[in-house]
Amino acid sequence: MTNTLYDALFAPHAGKDTPFLHLPGGDTLSYSAFLDTAARIAQVLTAGGLVPGDRLAAQVEKSPEALALYAACVQAGIVFLPLNTGYTKDELEYFISNSGARLLVCDPADADHLKPLARAHHAMLHTLGPDGQGSLMPAAKEQSDSFETVARTPDDLAAFLYTSGTTGRSKGAMLTHENLLSNARTLEDLWRFTQEDVLLHALPIFHTHGLFVATNTALVAGASMIFLPKFETGAMINRLKEATVMMGVPTFYTRLLGDPGLTRELTAGMRLFISGSAPLLAETHTRFEERTGHRILERYGMTETNMNSSNPYDGERRPGTVGFALPGVEIRIIDPDTDKPLPAGEVGQIEVRGPNVFKGYWQMPEKTAAELREDGFFITGDLGSFDADGYLQIVGRGKDLIISGGYNIYPKEIEVLLDAQPGVLESAVIGVPHPDFGETPVALVVPRDGAEPDTDALAEAVGTSLARYKHPRLIKLIDELPRNTMGKVQKNVLRDAYSGLFS
Ligand code: ATP
Ligand code: MG
Repeated sequence: MTNTLYDALFAPHAGKDTPFLHLPGGDTLSYSAFLDTAARIAQVLTAGGLVPGDRLAAQVEKSPEALALYAACVQAGIVFLPLNTGYTKDELEYFISNSGARLLVCDPADADHLKPLARAHHAMLHTLGPDGQGSLMPAAKEQSDSFETVARTPDDLAAFLYTSGTTGRSKGAMLTHENLLSNARTLEDLWRFTQEDVLLHALPIFHTHGLFVATNTALVAGASMIFLPKFETGAMINRLKEATVMMGVPTFYTRLLGDPGLTRELTAGMRLFISGSAPLLAETHTRFEERTGHRILERYGMTETNMNSSNPYDGERRPGTVGFALPGVEIRIIDPDTDKPLPAGEVGQIEVRGPNVFKGYWQMPEKTAAELREDGFFITGDLGSFDADGYLQIVGRGKDLIISGGYNIYPKEIEVLLDAQPGVLESAVIGVPHPDFGETPVALVVPRDGAEPDTDALAEAVGTSLARYKHPRLIKLIDELPRNTMGKVQKNVLRDAYSGLFS
């Protein structure tokens, strides 16, 4: 009997007493102990009546048990649906009803107010707290630590992952065993993961970055992870010297840079720093190299496709780019007006095809048909171009494109200029409704600590490099950019906040 994902990620580690997770207090959890826990949880799930193909929704804090719940689902052929711990009850209602989950696992503290919701949607309820409290683990302890792995083919669903909701309501992406396994193997190879590696893991495990990119790659290589409940600069600095690899979102890097403890000596044992989920400023890349001697490797992916492209392991890691298409993955730049590929240097929509591309959005046939072409290419919604050497550059999301008086304006072009000005930490340029032009660009600028850049001077400085129609109509200083838990700038929040400026 074969189970595509389980056989590759988990089964090879059965009986191994080597560490899988290094925990915050200094304890370690071996591979075999982890797999025993997963098997016990798988028993609980099937004893509760879940059958292969059923969905299990989990809104739980990051913990070894939460990760074992993922392994248990894979082993039992259940579709794992992790949910952002920040979602409110109303948001949860959408995910539970949309997914038709048969079991909801939530934090014990939320059980009382989620019970009626679960009942209303005919879902069972179990609880799991950050230290293993709640109903799930006692039930698992009663069960046997061996579980007969359920057969799954490459095309069977392994997970539903809801997108981050940066551009609108989250969509449930259906990911198969093959989608996840092909990507894990490719990344293991490309980023040279081995069982000697120790991955510093401070990402949430409800998102593709922490769950699939980080965890699956570590698992397929038999590596271990320093498994921290969340990013906390001091804890990261403390544990960096034990690690060989770190994966993070750009804010991890800017926060580490803000701590004088980040030094060349501290990171001497590291072989690789990886960044993704949001654009890494070229400046962060440069400052990190100056401080540590390491060149951060930036890669590009999304919930629907896992990873698509990566800067090279050997060879030049080019700041401000996301590198080359992964082996086995095709990336093309398409002119949305003609549907024809564009030459290097020209900006168009980024489309992706490969074994990593998802099966479609759950119960959204129209959305799936609109974004997943018949020839297998997925229209990512991101805009970008290839440079002359084949490095992919992302200029932003299609939904953030500003159309002013009929002209396209790519916010990134203006943001890069603003970011380079003295006293500017970062910026976001958005399109705001305007009676004459339809939309007009407005720049929100975050000053560096203690700086107070003059907005007229900023306007003049960037104006010289930009065509008139691209000049921000307003440059406004703000304290910080709104970001979601993955460090993504929420331009929709900014657009809402400033929509009335000119109307
Ligand atoms: P939604 O689709 O619900 O609006 P989302 O697209 O933010 O949310 P995710 O799937 O978590 O949800 O994020 C994928 C997106 O993140 C990509 O489409 C891209 O815009 C952005 N992204 C990921 N990595 C990078 C990177 N290295 N540089 C720039 N953008 C990136
Ligand atoms: Mg998206």
